[in-house]
Amino acid sequence: MRGLMMDEPLTLAAILERASRYFPHIEIVSLRPDGTLSRIEYGALAKRVRRLARALQEAGLARGDRVATLMWNHSAHVETYFAAPLAGGIVHPLNLRLHPDEIAYISGHAEDRFLIVDDVLWPVYERFRDKTRFERVWVVPFSGMRTPPGAESYETLLAHSSEDFEFPEIDENDAAGMCFTSGTTGRSKGVVYSHRSLVLHSMAECMTDCLGISQSDTVLSLAPMFHVNSWGLPYTCPMAGAKLLLPGCGCSAEDLLDVMEEEGVTIACGVPTIWLGVLDALHKNPDGWKFRGPVRVLIGGAAPPQSLIRELDRFGLRVIHAWGMTETSPLATVGRLKESMREWKDDRKYETRSKQGYAVPLIRLRLMRPEGEAPWDDATPGELEVRGPWIAASYYNAPEAANRWSPDGWFRTGDIATIDPEGYVKILDRSKDMIKSGGEWISSVDLENALMAHPAVREAAVIAIPDEKWQERPLAVVVLRDGEHVEPAELEKFLSTRFAKWQIPDGFVFTKEIPRTSVGKFLKSQLREQYRDWHAPSESSKEE
Ligand code: ADP
Repeated sequence: MRGLMMDEPLTLAAILERASRYFPHIEIVSLRPDGTLSRIEYGALAKRVRRLARALQEAGLARGDRVATLMWNHSAHVETYFAAPLAGGIVHPLNLRLHPDEIAYISGHAEDRFLIVDDVLWPVYERFRDKTRFERVWVVPFSGMRTPPGAESYETLLAHSSEDFEFPEIDENDAAGMCFTSGTTGRSKGVVYSHRSLVLHSMAECMTDCLGISQSDTVLSLAPMFHVNSWGLPYTCPMAGAKLLLPGCGCSAEDLLDVMEEEGVTIACGVPTIWLGVLDALHKNPDGWKFRGPVRVLIGGAAPPQSLIRELDRFGLRVIHAWGMTETSPLATVGRLKESMREWKDDRKYETRSKQGYAVPLIRLRLMRPEGEAPWDDATPGELEVRGPWIAASYYNAPEAANRWSPDGWFRTGDIATIDPEGYVKILDRSKDMIKSGGEWISSVDLENALMAHPAVREAAVIAIPDEKWQERPLAVVVLRDGEHVEPAELEKFLSTRFAKWQIPDGFVFTKEIPRTSVGKFLKSQLREQYRDWHAPSESSKEE
């Protein structure tokens, strides 16, 4: 017998309608390029979404057509997030930080038909426009500039449309959005989210033991909207009725802290490098900011060093550590402590909180080794595989990457991890970043985290460099805090309390800045290239 329940499609319309009905006066606040804030309420936003959806259909948008965006994080971008899929199309945020040729490639591969672009990003568009064939291009007056010649105005498009528009019926499994992986480990691949996957992912983010986003929250969403939909928050916040704060083109750590204080942010989400900068600002001015209450800081995208979690705690910024990927929408695991851990000693709690956490509901994990599944013993590494209703089942038009899925349909993440008996995942490395030395694996992440706990160190990335005898050896690239000086020997000694001699980097090079990926992670491929010919001053230091 089949269940006798209504078969209501899980579509983005339900999220938007709920936000506008129950939370019409809750705001999306956007930081403009000139540093001022603009505000729109969910009620007004929903009307503009209808206008845009109607206008897109009138422009010829058909089922499944892609609407690309080249936009920063602000409310008009949220409008496109709802309008394109609710008109039956697909919203495709382009990663504006990629090389113009790469953006053109991605847009061509995705077969984007229309483009919505911020006025301030028009020069970026001009660098690849010859290689694309958008039928119409609309310009958003994000900074108040005039629409450039040859383009159409987004505001005029909306003004000539009407909010009298019924969303078409949509199958919950129809595509709603598309994001490309940021290409850290190879050519970008398209992930196509469905209405259903986005709705379920948002519900999961709202759960208390996940991000616990509710109508009482003010959420600062720092991940760019082209990076896994800003981690799903532009959908999750309206679903919950939470106020959403968007950082526009980005700003300094000090400006971020100002806006967090002024707007009463309760949860702020971003990659570790942002929080390393914020911590630096807090160290320089420890009494500079007073938050209205405890602030949750969601960190993901790369592993935050344990020292960062501890230090942010001291300033009333409580870190929630989560793991995910473009292919996982992204939320897959969250590192919250279980009730049974309440009485644990602080050190053990921090150790656990710096792991990536256990699977959120509906997501399943396993660790695979060539000989089969690895035990969850906190010691045996394997490749993390994942499955669930918001995990990609394939890439868009990339048959060459079909081997990223196991024959029984699990997604192979490429992350090497251990899992402890409580189910907490610890990512040791991406398989490509793992350092293979003399037949043993060295975790670059462990070394980086230990180095960043040194008081003189602001940032550290550890990479593999080729070695004739050992195949590969670790090299640490270190950025010191302003005014600090430290000798390599001291860092070596600092690490030697936690690591065996063969695991300690052969060298420590000091630099002003570690290159970043387009979404703010350490760009290790560039470092590997840069230091390929680096040679250790003394060979003897490697011998055990
Ligand atoms: P890209 O592959 O371009 O970096 P993604 O954001 O999809 O884009 O990257 C996902 C990868 O980021 C994961 O496979 C993992 O290696 C890394 N990652 C994400 N979150 C964490 C985390 N909390 N700790 C360690 N690594 C993480």
